[in-house]
Amino acid sequence: MSTQAKKRTSQQKHERASHFALSPKQFSECPKCKKPVIPHRVCQFCGYYRGRDVLKLDTKEERKKKKGKKKEAKAKNR
Ligand SMILES: [Zn+2]
Repeated sequence: MSTQAKKRTSQQKHERASHFALSPKQFSECPKCKKPVIPHRVCQFCGYYRGRDVLKLDTKEERKKKKGKKKEAKAKNR
């Protein structure tokens, strides 16, 4: 195993670490549902991207129906 030639000073360590900080994520607003979305990505909430609906997402009522069906199935199995 090789060893380092010279010890790095704390100054050198801090200079290197000066680029490690993370910057906060930038969000833009979905033109359809007005929720914050990551730029250049399909909106997770409504499936909207570049002027059209890309994803076929369930509406709130459809999700409720599905949840109800799952609960019924679970109750039957018991
Ligand atoms: Zn949206």
